[in-house]
Amino acid sequence: MKLSMNEATAVEKSNLETDLALCEKYGYDMIELRTMECLPDYLKKHSIEELAAYFKSHKVKPLAFNTLCYFNSRTPEDYAGILAELRQMCEWGDKIGCKTVITVPTVDLHKVTRAEIHESAIACLKEMGAIAAEHGMRISLEFIGHPAASINTFQEAWEIIQAVDRDNVGITVDCFHFHGMGSQISDLAKADGKKIFIVHLNDTEDFPIGSLLDEDRVWPGTGCIDLDAILQTLKKIGWKQDVVSLELFRPEYYKMDPDDVYRIGKAKSDIVIQRNF
Ligand code: ZN
Repeated sequence: MKLSMNEATAVEKSNLETDLALCEKYGYDMIELRTMECLPDYLKKHSIEELAAYFKSHKVKPLAFNTLCYFNSRTPEDYAGILAELRQMCEWGDKIGCKTVITVPTVDLHKVTRAEIHESAIACLKEMGAIAAEHGMRISLEFIGHPAASINTFQEAWEIIQAVDRDNVGITVDCFHFHGMGSQISDLAKADGKKIFIVHLNDTEDFPIGSLLDEDRVWPGTGCIDLDAILQTLKKIGWKQDVVSLELFRPEYYKMDPDDVYRIGKAKSDIVIQRNF
């Protein structure tokens, strides 16, 4: 099992150059590139070709672009912007060998029915999947475990992915988001593991379901999520078991030296990985 780092975990004090060096130092096999700030900031001083050369000459490899935000139920103008962002990520992906784009659903939609949400999400993901396929890339839908998110449980995401029915469109299972709105292990057990493209590893303080926020995330194995149940179920349904990616958004960890975040994150993740794989 490989371990990846998601750049969100140390985003406030780090940057892409530092993140890459720390992945090498602590033995992270892969990295998820933040497309909101880390990658664009890097590209102010470097070229995408330089990043491609770095990945060629180092052990760490790119796992995914994170994140293509708020793709569904948008105005035609806004959706055109989403597709432009996707095309940009695909061009970068061609150059650096990154095969997956993670997308998250729109939040704070008002008075939009579940049927309308599903219809929009399916249409958008079909079109986005077709664009990604031109580059041999995949789209991975990450449901968000919060009441305001338009797709917020595993089951909702799974129904959408089944309806999209494309080989290159699947799901990101983020353990925090899985727990956040009470997604059911029994639903995960009925899914096809080949459709689980990315797994985000984390844990959380034990606040009530529906009230959890990203800032409540803690090191894997130090919170209340039954990570073993999620990981063992993923194994049973035929998930590839290739890589898990550490993704935290904790203000307390943001204040730490990124070197410590990478060091502790590796140690905590390894404990959970080693007892499951
Ligand atoms: Zn995530």
